[in-house]
Amino acid sequence: MSEADDRTSIESYKFHHIDTSKCKHCKEFSCEEACFRGIYEIINKETTPKCIVVEDREDMCVKCHICTTVCKFKAITID
Ligand code: SF4
Ligand code: SF4
Repeated sequence: MSEADDRTSIESYKFHHIDTSKCKHCKEFSCEEACFRGIYEIINKETTPKCIVVEDREDMCVKCHICTTVCKFKAITID
């Protein structure tokens, strides 16, 4: 993947930013399991996994940073 593609692979919500190019290589889906607020959902788990922030749940985030810690690809940043 080119650098240009890498730069455009970050999907931003209100204050969560997910580098979805990294999710493509993910098999653990740790973020979805670890977030006790149900912020994340992984779509296309069997094909091309991609983490999304569930609509209307972002404000439930308490910024505990469990998700940023458990994601071994460091795909998640939180403002
Ligand atoms: S955010 Fe991290 S743990 Fe979650 S699906 Fe993407 S790469 Fe996997
Ligand atoms: S910081 Fe905590 S509450 Fe917010 S999305 Fe991550 S694990 Fe969930």
